[in-house]
This record gives sequence, C-alpha cells and structure tokens, in this order.
Amino acid sequence: MKNYKNCILIIIFLLLPILAISGVMFINDFSLKIIAKELLFNSAILVFIVLTIHFINKKVLKNILSLILLIPFYSILFVKIFTLTSFFNFIDNAVLYTVFETNYNELTGFLNSYSKWYHVLIASTYIFTLILLIFKFNTNVKVKHTYYIEIIVLICIAISYRFYERSLSLLTFNTYFEYKTFSAEISKDISKSTSKYFTNVSNSDEEALYVVIIGESTTRNNMGIYGYYRDTNPNLNKVKSELHLFKNVISPHIQTILSLDKVLSMGDYDHPENNKLGTVIQLANQAGFETYWLSNQKPIGAYESLVSLYAKANKNKFYVSNIYEDANKYDEILLPKLKETINQEASKKMIFLHLEGSHISYHTKYPESFNFFTDEPQTQFATVETHQIINEYDNSVRYNDFIVSQIIKTVKNANKNSYVVYFSDHGEEVFKDYEYFGHHESIGSNAMFEIPFIVWTSDKYKEKSKINFDNQLERKYNLEDFIYSFSEISRIKFDQFQPTKSVFNTDFQFKKRIILKGVNYDERIKEK
Ligand SMILES: [Zn+2]
Repeated sequence: MKNYKNCILIIIFLLLPILAISGVMFINDFSLKIIAKELLFNSAILVFIVLTIHFINKKVLKNILSLILLIPFYSILFVKIFTLTSFFNFIDNAVLYTVFETNYNELTGFLNSYSKWYHVLIASTYIFTLILLIFKFNTNVKVKHTYYIEIIVLICIAISYRFYERSLSLLTFNTYFEYKTFSAEISKDISKSTSKYFTNVSNSDEEALYVVIIGESTTRNNMGIYGYYRDTNPNLNKVKSELHLFKNVISPHIQTILSLDKVLSMGDYDHPENNKLGTVIQLANQAGFETYWLSNQKPIGAYESLVSLYAKANKNKFYVSNIYEDANKYDEILLPKLKETINQEASKKMIFLHLEGSHISYHTKYPESFNFFTDEPQTQFATVETHQIINEYDNSVRYNDFIVSQIIKTVKNANKNSYVVYFSDHGEEVFKDYEYFGHHESIGSNAMFEIPFIVWTSDKYKEKSKINFDNQLERKYNLEDFIYSFSEISRIKFDQFQPTKSVFNTDFQFKKRIILKGVNYDERIKEK
C-alpha cells in the first residue's frame, strides 16, 4: 500500500515540469496541437526512461541509470521553461547562433540579466528531490508486459521525433553544423582582402578620412535626439545642426551576426546567399583605402565570431579584448586608438569602429560617472525592477551619445575630407510595447528594428559632395542595402552599384521591408 502511495507521488512529481511547460505554452497562445505534441513527446520519453530504470534489478545500477537519464532530461525541461518564460518562445536557431558566438563574459552577462537566483535553486532542488525519491523507492511494484509497453513507447517517441525542431538537443546539434558550414564558407570568400565579384572599383579622392561607427543594441526610441522624452543625447543635440538624422531606418535582423551579415555584405532578404559575393571592407580595399577595424567587441569566444571573419579583410585590426583579456572595457577605450589611427601616414583611410554600445547587461556598459537617470521613468510596465532596467539602459544610451560625439569631434579636429556614419546593428525592446527587455526574434518588436542612422560630414567633404541629405531624411530604408549607400557616400564606383538601393541617391526607390519570417514591417507599423 505504501508503495502505491510512493508510486503516485513519484508520478506526480515526474510530470510536474512537463505540465508546467504545457501551462506556460497555453498562456503564451501556442496552438493546442503544438502543446499536445510537446506533451506527448516529453511524456513518451519520460515513460521510456522510467521503464528502463524499472528493468534493472541491481539497486546500484538502477541508481546510476536514474542519474544518467533523469538529470539531462529534466535539465532540458528547465531550459525550455526558462526560455519560454523569458522569451515567450522556445530556443530557436537565431538564439543558438548567438550562444555559439558568445564568450564567457557575455554569457554570464546574459544569464545575469534574465535568470534569477531562484531559477537555479528551484531546478536543483527539484532534481535533487526527484532523485532522492527514486533512490528511496523500493520497486516491488510489478508492471506486467513491460517489454510491450517499452516498444509502444519507443514508437511514440519515434513518431513525435518527427517534430524534432522541438527537441532542444537535436536543434542545437543541427544548428551547430549549419553554423560551422556558414562560417567556413564565409571565411573562404569574405575574409580575403578583395572580392572577385566587384569589378572596376575606383575612388578618385586624393585624401580621405571616412569613419563608420557600428553601434550595438541601441534603439532610436530611447534617443533624445530622435524625440525620446529624456535627454539621452546631450552631446549630439549640441551639434544637431551639423548632423543628418535619418528617421526611418531599420535593421534587417535583431541579432548582431544575422544583421551585420547583411549590412556589411551584398546579401539581403531575397538573396541571403549573396553575402559571399563581397563586403564593404573588400570594396574599400579595392578602392585603394587603408582599412582599419577598431573593435571593443570580442573576436574570440568559444569559437571565432562571424563578425571577426568579416573584419579579417581589413588591413589593420585592433581588438581591445586582445589586450585586456578579462575586459569589460567601456567604449571610450577606442578613442585614443582612433586618434592614433588618424595620425598614421596613409592618405586615404576607411575606419570601422565596432562598439559595445547598449548591449545587455546595460549597467556594465558605462562608468559610474554616467549613472545619470535614477528617477522614475515613464513606462506602462511599472515595477521597481523595470524602472531600474530602463534607467540603466538610458544611461548606456547617454554614454553612447558621449562616445559617438567624441568620435565626430576627433574626426572634425583632423580637418580632412571626412564623413562619420553612425548606426546600430539592431535596436532593443526596453519595456516600450512589451514587458520585456533585450532583442529576440520570437518577440521581434518594432523597437528591436528601429535604429539610429546619423551622418556627419566635414566642410572639405561638402565642397565636393553632391548629396543632398536633407531631402532624404524621411526615406524608409532597410539597412540590408547599406553597401550601396556606403559606396556612394565613400565615392566608390563599381560596376555592381545599384542607385535605387542607395539611400543617398536621387534615384533611390522604396523597397518592401521584410523582417522576421516574412513580416512586412511597414504594414505592421500601419496596423498599430
Ligand atoms: Zn547586436
């Protein structure tokens, strides 16, 4: 009798996380069919594990097997619950790409931002109790026909395995290989200093100092200069009359690698495979520029990052984290390096600056002296925690304002034929339309796509330029076509140039802006 009680207790305990997943999926509006599939798949695996354990007669072996089978099974279930509650969806390959790219510092930053200490506590207490229960449970309960049951369960697993995209382990495995192939292909073509695809590349400048700032996770929605109610851009506002503020530019994706893969290359939504044809860096090399890549982002994580494969084509590369290993260095560390680069001899320079910007964890991206916003921010999701996160994000945006304006000032003081273009790789949701902070394609909010795109030009540049920026500021542009705008503003000519895709060209044409898996961004904006 006691055994039956134990048995029921264990079954309830075993099923808890599986039911929890179904519950969270239900709350997040998953279809009943998908919930049922997930339920079936997990239950089938569970029954299989329990029966396998049940088969073993030796107690020690039984215990070891319980550990080996149950710990990974429940760990995966907890990862699923964690991602479901944090991102309102399962882990997808976009997230996994980021995980493969991420180094230890970023990963801990990520976990610190989303996980609470009690997540780990709950999960480990759960697994511990479960194992204790099973260890203590004396399995005298005889189940008849276990072999048949086992076979039936195996068939169930096989059937539900067809929906393997739900299986975290298999998805990770597949995505990892896709990622490896992707980076191998890229490094073959993109990392070379020139591209065979570009023909008749030329630039007639005698001297030039062109600077492209690639920001990180900065949405224009939180920028004072774009109308945000807080003055997060005191420095840029001071020189506003010298700036061309493009008001309607979006990023093609909301994850660094996926986005920059299109922004820096010939790839776009219709032809992502064109990323192999050539990049802005190769174009600049072929046009006779001395190219520089100054980055505060990490080139080496567990694996070499994809962006660093693109950056390889640069003639000169400087990574802060190569020098300061444990670095979580503020972006200002690039400023002396920029000055040094400007003072170098080459007459035509193309400098790319890759910032840490406003990436999670926000409070680690600015020094204490920039802890400016501490009062209660405006948000429809008012809690002490959201207030703090919004304040930290706004502080990081305000620090980014200092960095960008310092870069412009430095270039201006050089008194050369110059431009500075600044954009962010993607935006960020910070409790604007969703009770959420971060960037994740399963949410894919507008704020995650809406980026700043700002141009500054020097007097010497203006003397020769025919670009009339002021007529272009309202243009609806997807930064996946950046290579055409880049070549135009850099006065680089090449056969493959398409004027309709350059935001600076008089022949510019609006192109449908498709985001996520086939969503028309402009239609979605209209619906709001
Ligand atoms: Zn990013």
